[in-house]
Order: sequence, then structure tokens, then C-alpha cells
Amino acid sequence: MPRILDGNRVRDDIKSELKPRVEALAAQGRPPGLAVVLVGHHPASEIYVRNKIKTCHDLGIYSESITPPDSISTAELLAIVLALNARPEIDGILVQLPLPPQVDTKRILMAVTPAKDVDGFHPCNVGALVANLPAPRACTPAGIIELLKRGGIPIAGRRAVVVGRSDIVGKPAAMLLLHEHATVTICHSKTPDLPAVCREADILVAAIGRAAMITRDFIRQGATVIDVGTNYIQDRDLAARIFRNSPEKLASFDRRGSVLVGDVDPIDVVERAGAYTPVPGGVGPLTIAMLMVNTVASAERRSGVC
Ligand code: NDP
Repeated sequence: MPRILDGNRVRDDIKSELKPRVEALAAQGRPPGLAVVLVGHHPASEIYVRNKIKTCHDLGIYSESITPPDSISTAELLAIVLALNARPEIDGILVQLPLPPQVDTKRILMAVTPAKDVDGFHPCNVGALVANLPAPRACTPAGIIELLKRGGIPIAGRRAVVVGRSDIVGKPAAMLLLHEHATVTICHSKTPDLPAVCREADILVAAIGRAAMITRDFIRQGATVIDVGTNYIQDRDLAARIFRNSPEKLASFDRRGSVLVGDVDPIDVVERAGAYTPVPGGVGPLTIAMLMVNTVASAERRSGVC
């Protein structure tokens, strides 16, 4: 049986390590502060933001959420971001995406001052990532590296294949793996013979957004498989294929009408991989944990601790 890289355990370890750092900052004057801007009503975003605020609360990090209406203009949202940039007790600013269509998302993300950009999306921080300089790193890719390192998976000298080239997952994940001395290939929708490329991977990262697309043909025997995908499926035939040996999970799908699955076939990965991240409970928990790491590190930098 392959080893499961348990994201919940790694998240809890990271939170335990952060607690004394938060307490030290609080003792020195004030706890770290995170502001989350959530525009309008977007049920999935509301859940993510609730979880972020709750995790701040667990750790003793000051947090506030700002919830302007869906009708907000780019200028009005810019004013909110600029005001947060100027507030000394706020160390991290997170603008929850997606934003409504009338808002210029790039302008908003560019307006967050790089020192408080705890998502690591600002071009200055992307440049720092490429140059391997200290700066906030994109949370999900940083979480992937934590899962690998803490799971005892060697990265240096290994072949890593990342499927997906988005700015928030695929590209930064590839760059972080490169900095850890992997030999990295980035694939996308135009990559010919994707299964053959993926089979070269010692470490295969799937960040695609297509339910169970990575099947046994893509996975070299013994490879480490990191499944970033979060796909809520409602198609019963697809659910029946994915849960072909799990009547309980299919029954749960039938009760609820939808289910969360990753980009990797959950049965094939168990047969082929040496280690893998499950969905749920793999990469997902690390995203918020790394947001907390970025917020605490930002507070430490801003208060002169490091
Ligand atoms: P994007 O849609 O931005 O990017 C998807 C990438 O997958 C693109 O580069 C696309 O290629 C590639 N792709 C799509 N179809 C294929 C295909 N058939 N063959 C090869 N490549 C393909 O998604 P994100 O990067 O934002 O997210 C990816 C997944 O990760 C999603 O399921 C998302 O929900 C999840 N996610 C999970 C997080 C977590 O905390 N667990 C956090 C962030 C994302 P091309 O560029 O050519 O179009």
C-alpha cells in the first residue's frame, strides 16, 4: 500500500509551530493581523473565508473580514485596499477571488502592497519567487513543498512533472520544485502524449481542475502523486466510475447529489503510487496553513523580528 501524505496532520504541525511565534509577537506589542476582503455573496468563497478567519482565531492572529457588495467598483475596492495598506496593525491583506466582472482584478491585486501580499500574487513577489529571494510564496504551492519535505519525499535530483500552468498553482509549484533542485517539466492542455510525460515523474503534481483525469497510465509505479484538484462533481456516471469499488462513497453521493474529488483517480493512485495526497485531506488543509505562515512571517518582518 502506498503511503498517504496526510495534509491534516501537517497542517496541525504547522499550526503548533506558529503558536509560539504568534505569542511572541503578541507579547512584544500586538499579534499579527490579517484582513480578508470578500466581495458579494459567493458560497464557496464564504466557506473559504470562514475557515481562514477561524484558523486565525485558533492561533491568536487578529483578523477582520471586509464584505463590500457585489456592485462595488474598481475605484471603491482600490480605496479599501489602499486603506488596509496604510494600517499598521494589518500585516496581511487577502482579496478573495473571484471578483465580480466589473472589477479590474489585476489592478486590485497589484494595489496590495507587496509586504502585505500574503497570497504571494503580486508581481514583485512572483519576481522574488523566480529569483529565489525571501518573500511571501503562493500558499498552495508552498503547501505542496511542505507536504513533500515533511513526508520525507526526496526532491533534489528527482524528476518532477507539474500538470497545469496557472499563476496561482502550476507555475509557482514548478518554480519551488526547481529551487529544491528537482528537474521540472510543466505540462498543459497542449502537451502531446501527456500520459508518457507524466510517467517520467518521480513526483507528479496534478493541478488541472478535471475530475480523476490522471489515471493509472499517467503514474509510474512508485511515484509520489500530489493531487491539487478540487472538483465538485454532480454527474452520477462519473461518480460511479470514480467510486467503482466504494459503494459507501457512491451511496453518499446519491444522498448529497455531489461529491468532492481530485484530479487523480483515487483507485489507480493507490495501485500505482509510492505515496500520494488524498482528496479531501491532502493539499487542501495546507493552503490555509501556509496563509497563516505568510501572515506571521509578514508580522515578524514588519516588527523587525527577522
Ligand atoms: P486553472 O484552470 O487556472 O488551470 C488549469 C491548468 O490545467 C491549465 O494550465 C490548463 O492548461 C491545464 N489543463 C486543463 N485541462 C488539461 C488537460 N486536458 N490536459 C493537460 N492540462 C490541462 O486552475 P488552477 O490552477 O487555479 O487550479 C487547478 C485545480 O486546483 C482546480 O481543481 C482548483 O480547484 C484546485 N485548487 C485547489 C487548491 C487547494 O487549496 N487544494 C487551491 C487552488 C486550486 P492550459 O493553460 O493550456 O489551459
